[in-house]
Parts: sequence; structure tokens; C-alpha cells
Amino acid sequence: MSTLQLSVVIPVYNEEQGLQTLFDRLYPALDKLGISYEIVYINDGSRDRSAAILREQFQRRPDVTRVILFNGNFGQHMAIMAGFEQSRGQRVVTLDADLQNPPEEIAKLLAKMDEGFDYIGSIRKQRNDSWWRHVASRAMNNLRERITRIKITDQGCMLRAYDRGIIDAINSCKEVNTFIPALAYTFARKPAEVVVEHDERAAGESKYSLYSLIRLNFDLMTGFSVVPLQMFSMAGIAVSLMSALFFVFLVVRRLIIGPEAEGLFTLFALVFFMIGITLFGIGLLGEYVGRIYQQVRHRPRYLVEAVLEEQDAVKVKQKRSKKAVAEDSAVSELFTDIQE
Ligand code: UDP
Ligand code: MG
Repeated sequence: MSTLQLSVVIPVYNEEQGLQTLFDRLYPALDKLGISYEIVYINDGSRDRSAAILREQFQRRPDVTRVILFNGNFGQHMAIMAGFEQSRGQRVVTLDADLQNPPEEIAKLLAKMDEGFDYIGSIRKQRNDSWWRHVASRAMNNLRERITRIKITDQGCMLRAYDRGIIDAINSCKEVNTFIPALAYTFARKPAEVVVEHDERAAGESKYSLYSLIRLNFDLMTGFSVVPLQMFSMAGIAVSLMSALFFVFLVVRRLIIGPEAEGLFTLFALVFFMIGITLFGIGLLGEYVGRIYQQVRHRPRYLVEAVLEEQDAVKVKQKRSKKAVAEDSAVSELFTDIQE
């Protein structure tokens, strides 16, 4: 079991148009590496034919293919989590199903790992994304780096390689709404980054709306740091100090010049500004409370409907009648109960 050298984990959500091209490029690229590997696909509750296509591919290459079928859409990162839990390789590489990360680049990541690094991130050479995502992601990167001290040059690129030790550490975390590259970074002993090619989406369209990108970044900030809360306490102290000074000024002014009556709307502006900040603070607190709430509910993070994997020939015979085995060769579907 431990001799398996590489697991490739791929989340799939409504990717029916691009999957065949992915298979056509991925398998040859991995065969060329000359190491033992497995590919773990996670169907994240796709509403198109993705699941059926993955089943077909499993029938075609059951030796190196495993498929996890979720019974709903739990998000890219939960899908990768499930893939990590199922993976058996000494090293694990994550990849997007849309071919934005060329499978041929996996070799580059593994070569870097051979130098002794345990976590390899990647930086897209030329990003083929829309301009607003370009600008937004640069701004978010700066902010994130300051707040969380997690250095990921290009957080949008999921082509990454992890050593078994990091995968085990991640598997022992039962976090909800997490961001896997950041989590891995906090566990990494010796992280490194390499520059990789980045293509346009082969087919279909991006699954991330502006809203889900904003959500993702909130999760990143609040999931890995309490600095936003601390900044709020600091802001509170600053405002209190300033209003104390202002009060002293008004007292002095009243004694020297007399009472003031003007400036009503300046007061309004000030008060509205403060109310805005207070509301933002309550919302921020809510983000943390929400995370705590999600965590303490202990609900399963995802539900697995079925896992398709090749069974040990012996085990299959024990489980099924001879006829069923003959019908289905050595390939069997292992239906797991609600996992986790
Ligand atoms: N994905 C997923 N579940 C989701 C959304 C996306 O498994 O809810 C997968 C998707 O199939 C793809 C990867 O995550 O393999 C990245 O998604 P996408 O390409 O849409 O994101 P982008 O490249 O636009 O950031
Ligand atoms: Mg993509």
C-alpha cells in the first residue's frame, strides 16, 4: 500500500465537456513519469453527465482510477479533502479538472519535491483570467499576506504537490470552510513554489462567481487569523482616545468662547461613519461566531454516495456470488455509508 508513489486528486463539478480531453492528456503524462500512481476524481454533485463520464473512465482504467461520488455540491475544497482522505500515494498532487493547469507540469512539481521540499505551490506564468479577477486577486493576496502571514504568491492556482506528512496532518483536521493550500502551508516544514503554465479553460465556464470569491477570501482571513478582530479592538481604542480629546477641547472652548450650536450635519456625518464601523465590527464578529457554530455542530462536511475502486480480487470473491463476479469481472462498486 505504501509503495504507491503518487496520488492525483481532481475535483469535478459540471465538467462534462472537458473531461475527455483531460483523460487524453493526464494519463499519458503520468505514464511518462514512470512511477506508480492513482488518480482520485471527486464528483462534487455535478448536475450534468460528469458522474457518468467518470464511471466510464473508471471501467476503462480501473487499475489507476478511483472515483468518489458526493451526493451533493460541497465545494471544491471539501472535494479535495475527501480526495486526500482516500489517497494512498506518498505524494499527492491536486489539479483542476478544467485543464487550466497542464497535467504535463506535474513532473516539474515532483522534481522540485526531490530537492527536499515537502509542499510545492505554483505560480501561473501568464494568467488567463479576466482582468477584474487579476486586479482583485492581487489586492486580496496583499491583504491576506499581512493578516495571516501565509505566503502564497498565487492563491488561485490549485496545481500543488503535498508530501504524505502534510496530507496526514490535513486529514486530522476536521475544519469546515477551509482553504487547503493555506492549511497545508501552515503545516509545511519546507515550502517552495514553482512557475507553471496556465491555460484558458478547455471547456465550460468558471464555477466561481464574484460572491463565492469574496466568501472564499473571508474564510481565508477569519479561518487562519484573529488579526481582524484585534484590529477592531485597536480601532475602538483609537476612537475612544480621539473622542476623549475632542471632549476636552469642547470643554475648554466653552469656557473661553462659549457654547457652540453650529455643525449639526458634521455631527451626523461623524455619527453615521461610526455606526458604519460598528456594523462592520458586528458583522466581523458574526463571521467568527458563524465559523464556531459550523464547527461545533459536528455535521458531516460532505456526504459520499459511492466510491468506485478496484477491489482486491480475493475480497470481491468473498463478497459476491460467482455469477456476479463473472458478470462484473474484478471491478466492483463499493458503496460506503455516510462517511466521516
Ligand atoms: N469545483 C468543484 N466544486 C465546486 C466548484 C468547482 O469541485 O463547487 C471544481 C471544478 O470542477 C474545477 C475546480 O474546482 O475542477 C476549479 O473550478 P473553476 O475552474 O470553476 O475555478 P476557477 O479556475 O475559475 O478559479
Ligand atoms: Mg478553472
